[in-house]
Amino acid sequence: MIRRFINRLFTPNKSKDPTPRRGQRRELLPAQHQIDASRIPPSARSTVQTLQQAGFEAYIVGGAVRDLLLGLKPKDFDVATNATPEQVKPLFRRAFIIGRRFRIVHVMHGREIIEVSTYRALHDPQAVEAVNGNERTARTTLADKTLAVDSSGRVLRDNVWGTLDEDAERRDFTVNALYYDPIRDVVVDYHHGIDDLKQRRLRMIGEPAARYREDPVRMLRVARFAAKLGFDIDPATLQAIAPSADLLANVPAARLFDETVKLLQTGHAVASLQQLRRLGLHHGLLPLLDPVLEKPEGERFITNALQDTDARIAQGKTASPSFLFACLLWHDVEQRWSALQAEGVAPSMALDQAADEVLAAQAERLAIQRRVATDLREIWSLQPRFERRTPRYANSLLAHPRFRAAFDFLSLRARSDQADPALVQWWEEFQQADAEGRAAMLAAVPAQPGAGKSKRRRRRKKPAAAEPGAGSPAAG
Ligand code: ATP
Ligand code: MG
Repeated sequence: MIRRFINRLFTPNKSKDPTPRRGQRRELLPAQHQIDASRIPPSARSTVQTLQQAGFEAYIVGGAVRDLLLGLKPKDFDVATNATPEQVKPLFRRAFIIGRRFRIVHVMHGREIIEVSTYRALHDPQAVEAVNGNERTARTTLADKTLAVDSSGRVLRDNVWGTLDEDAERRDFTVNALYYDPIRDVVVDYHHGIDDLKQRRLRMIGEPAARYREDPVRMLRVARFAAKLGFDIDPATLQAIAPSADLLANVPAARLFDETVKLLQTGHAVASLQQLRRLGLHHGLLPLLDPVLEKPEGERFITNALQDTDARIAQGKTASPSFLFACLLWHDVEQRWSALQAEGVAPSMALDQAADEVLAAQAERLAIQRRVATDLREIWSLQPRFERRTPRYANSLLAHPRFRAAFDFLSLRARSDQADPALVQWWEEFQQADAEGRAAMLAAVPAQPGAGKSKRRRRRKKPAAAEPGAGSPAAG
């Protein structure tokens, strides 16, 4: 009996329809799933426990379960429950209901956040087809007004609560729809996610074309997960992409920003972009990626940047969205910067103006968060300051909060023949040197172009060099 059960678990799904939307529940015991319970952080475990003790169902779900089963380190732990956000919140000391399109609860454990989402119900595809009009019609047609779709069938809001099997159905890939109960130590699988994991196959739950219509961003997620996991894309999941690709044009810019950041921060950014190209999702999709996506060999500066990013993440470091977007948009900024200088605009003013123009053009398609935009502008605007190696400028640049990011950016520019490698070397040594060493390095810097007023100042000050606190010119 048990053997039959196990056989059933591990025989590949042979049904005629390989992607039935309504799945059949299977439970995997510890010997079958082999998740190492000690890898579940106390924050995730206690969140599940608290919910269960209050009489609700609760599971760790999604990427964490998938990654644990693959022996990878999960990025974060999400919990799914049948408790509504209003029922979840009072169970925890610090918990916040967030989101509109998709309401969830953030449960805080120190600095860790566990995202708790209520089981969502599957949308009734017939209801969605039937409305096929504007959002207002859709909302009035559906009994529950918490689901809304636009005229292309894209889901605008998704707050219809459901059961566990319904929640599994509306997740994207079979390997992302696995639920782990750390208290009972069982994995629940409705869609042969375990089989697909073993076959290293990325397969959309349900009918792929319909799923891309509901949420076109899922096409970008195919590229991201295929690259991150090194999985094959199931033929049906793959084939529906080309005819659906145009739907991405309807996706709001802020949503594209979020998903693009995720794609670039997987540690497999280069592979993800190659996947996007392979899937034909690169034509004008994200204009800032065109320089790298359109040319088969990629644009050198961006390719270098993304390779560095992947290497950083492999070392357990982070890659900030501001640095990533500073790199991705630099190609345009740099060209505009040169053109404006050729017209006679002063370098730093030209750079500011180029940054304004490029960011404004970009905002229409992919909305970069304001905070990120501020940071990335700083990375750019610090670039000309590396040329000014005078005591005043060099030391204040070194103390600048964005120095490290700006310096990494300068190194990338040097590797792409846009900056002098000797300048990078100089700053590398300058950072390592002690105060005395720095002073000696600065004294040895030959008169440089771009030092502007400071050059004059040095000449003037020479006889009085030992005199501290001498007047200094206003910053340029
Ligand atoms: P990562 O480790 O990269 O964060 P993840 O699988 O956790 O991977 P998230 O984007 O964090 O990916 O999403 C969490 C889970 O939510 C997914 O595993 C999936 O089950 C579900 N999900 C997220 N986005 C979608 C979507 N657009 N459509 C359907 N389900 C989704
Ligand atoms: Mg996640």
